[in-house]
Amino acid sequence: MSEPVVERIGVLGGGQLGRMLTLEAKRMGYRVVTLEPLPNSPCGQVADEQIVAAYDDLRAIGELGARSDVVTYEFENIALESVRALESDGRLVRPSAHVLRIAQDRILEKTFLQEIGAPVAPFAPVLDERQLDEAMRSIDFPAVLKTARGGYDGKGQWVAHSAGEARAAVAAARGVPLIFERFVPFELEVSVICARGSDGDAISFPVTENQHDHGVLATTIVPARISRALEREVREIALRVGEKLEIVGAYCVEFFVVDGGAYVNEIAPRVHNSGHYSLDATSISQYEAHVRAICDLPLVEPRLFAPAVMVNILGTGKGDHLEGIADLLRDPDLKLHIYGKRHAALRRKMGHFTVVDPRLETALAKAETGRALLSWTPTRPLQTAPV
Ligand code: AMP
Repeated sequence: MSEPVVERIGVLGGGQLGRMLTLEAKRMGYRVVTLEPLPNSPCGQVADEQIVAAYDDLRAIGELGARSDVVTYEFENIALESVRALESDGRLVRPSAHVLRIAQDRILEKTFLQEIGAPVAPFAPVLDERQLDEAMRSIDFPAVLKTARGGYDGKGQWVAHSAGEARAAVAAARGVPLIFERFVPFELEVSVICARGSDGDAISFPVTENQHDHGVLATTIVPARISRALEREVREIALRVGEKLEIVGAYCVEFFVVDGGAYVNEIAPRVHNSGHYSLDATSISQYEAHVRAICDLPLVEPRLFAPAVMVNILGTGKGDHLEGIADLLRDPDLKLHIYGKRHAALRRKMGHFTVVDPRLETALAKAETGRALLSWTPTRPLQTAPV
């Protein structure tokens, strides 16, 4: 492998994923510039520079490209046009616009998965009433209708048990293209994070088990409590996704586990919330793996030091002050990460902690103890700026 030429990384998006990616990139000696509309973003706080601009501001995007040797993104709902503009300017974007285009559109994504032989729940595109009738004829209820584009954390989704409910969902979507999917009565949701380099070398992280609260990830358990055979199968499918899409960078493939088998739910072409644990429980983190992949450095298989449980610290809307940290930090096997966001809106991701323990049962118990210690309260007057 020749000497790497990347010194500056551009990150589209300024959230917590960008922040953790930046912290790892900085540790490895890179200069990081982020672009994000809100000033003082979680990523901007730790990056060398933040360009404050909208994701579709092509002048600012051009500036990001000019100040970076490689541009990446930390969430997939950025304007595809911006990534295309960077590529037409001759900038290196990883993963590419081709990958982003497919991951941004559930219809293209599911069609791609079907084409490469990955198991997916029966689905059909719904762009109008006629297609809805067709979908209802070929796919049984209950079904999930999801906006083809722009949905995340369970937003833009309706569960329908009947034609009436499906029609109501289509009306609520107001002409936006939808995907009609068979509801999967899953026992578990699991995901696999992989990273792939431009030379085709790829690695996969241990399979994680993910539990959600109203569509938002609440807890990640690793290793997932599934059979060795299923673990091998989902890792193999996740690697195949990256190979066929020619992804360069870290990415996540999410699955539903049902009846001992698995269906792919979605692909996220970026570092992922279910991989936070890797900062504390594996020999290289997903963030380091992403940096290595996009900077043409060698990829090595991550080793899991011990079972781990990651708990997302979600806002409740009841205040912006987090109580209980001092008690939480009494556990020597627990690592706390706080993202630097001011307002703890309902279910907003404010931070997380990871418990690592040789016994998964112990890690699970400690995680629940930790979760119960934390609460949000209105900010105390003493904590505002002194007058
Ligand atoms: P998504 O935005 O596709 O990741 O969906 C968010 C959540 O909705 C998933 O984590 C599942 O809990 C649920 N969900 C999505 N699609 C289905 C489906 N076809 N069957 C059952 N649950 C689903």
